[in-house]
Amino acid sequence: MAHVNENYLKLPGNYLFASIAQKVAEFSKHHPDASIIRLGIGDVTRPLAPAIIQAMHKAVDEMGHADTFRGYGPEQGYDFLRQAIIKGDYHRRNISLDLDEVFVSDGAKTDVACIQEIFGQDLKFAVADPVYPVYLDSNVMVGHTGNYLADKGIYEQVVYLPCTAENGFKAQPPTEKVDIVYLCNPSNPTGTAMSKAELETWVKAAHDQNFIIIYDSAYETYITEEDIPHSIFEIDGAKEIAIELRSFSKCAGFTGTRCAYVVVPHACKAYTKDGKAVSLNPLWNRRQCTFFNGTPYVIQRAAEAYYSPEGWAQCQADVNYYMDNAHTIRDGLIAAGYTVYGATNSPYAWVQTPHQMKSWEFFDLLLEKAHVVTTPGEGFGPHGEGYLRLTAFGTKENTAAAIARIADLKLCK
Ligand SMILES: *Cc1c(COP(=O)(O)O)cnc(C)c1O
Repeated sequence: MAHVNENYLKLPGNYLFASIAQKVAEFSKHHPDASIIRLGIGDVTRPLAPAIIQAMHKAVDEMGHADTFRGYGPEQGYDFLRQAIIKGDYHRRNISLDLDEVFVSDGAKTDVACIQEIFGQDLKFAVADPVYPVYLDSNVMVGHTGNYLADKGIYEQVVYLPCTAENGFKAQPPTEKVDIVYLCNPSNPTGTAMSKAELETWVKAAHDQNFIIIYDSAYETYITEEDIPHSIFEIDGAKEIAIELRSFSKCAGFTGTRCAYVVVPHACKAYTKDGKAVSLNPLWNRRQCTFFNGTPYVIQRAAEAYYSPEGWAQCQADVNYYMDNAHTIRDGLIAAGYTVYGATNSPYAWVQTPHQMKSWEFFDLLLEKAHVVTTPGEGFGPHGEGYLRLTAFGTKENTAAAIARIADLKLCK
């Protein structure tokens, strides 16, 4: 008799975006003529850049000829892409990395969900609250948490780091003992970002308190302010305590194309039960070689083209397009009387609900009255209650129309 992994049964209800999709489908059924604008899920809408498409076409043709055909590639990614990543994302910021510290993958979701496998089964971890749900759910599934406490919306044995208006939505280092901490900077969902000095505090805490930081910088390309770090490795001493994850999804529109990477520095170490330090890099290498057979060649050539001068400029133009939307959302809602955070170094605006409305209640109201789909903050954790996340990934026209509709409801007057 096969037993199920009962950890899966701890997970409450639906994946957040499945619940939203269900509500929107229900509304559409009863209002088939409503023109619904989606500022909910964090998915891009601009097509792939011409330089990237060109590189993909070329790579596809190579696959059709015996002398340029590629079979299995290296599990860690092709050297041409790893070199382009190191040069484009790290050397440019005076960070040196070895080629074998970079692992190319098919997505940061995959990487961030799986990275916990190289730590001990008794792992104790901390997450920001609110947070990108994958950090938490992946740990629940392998048994790193206790039960879900439905009345509080939290799991037992997890350390939550509240992100509130009082602390600028910036997680503070834990006061109790943890082994790893997930940090997303700039943050999804709040759109706020830690400064270099704030990240220095974290790196110091990781050394002092002996924990590893899993640093998700999926949105680094949206940073506009000078003192916000693009990589945790800009901070001295970070290589000993941090693993960094990046994705081509938000910077180059790869949400449907799939490519990302992890940096596991040789210097980053964890410990055996009897106190021996072990480098995490060979462990992640071993894990990838067993579980993963490499990102497709065509996709890696596409990702490489992001770092070409043309690809870089074209992708930057799309990022600017989204950031214009972010400003439309932020400025429009502030003018309508709302309190809005984020949307300066990230494509997300974190909007306080009016009159202390619950986030699902405000979600329903905007769907019914403005036909605008948002994401209720409560879906990202208990401290997300009282907020909505709006994304800047729509079209310019739809974004402006959605904000005009919300303003017309005059809920804050
Ligand atoms: C979108 C996103 C990613 C990227 O995931 P992919 O699987 O590479 O598409 C990673 N982390 C966060 C916080 C995100 O919002």
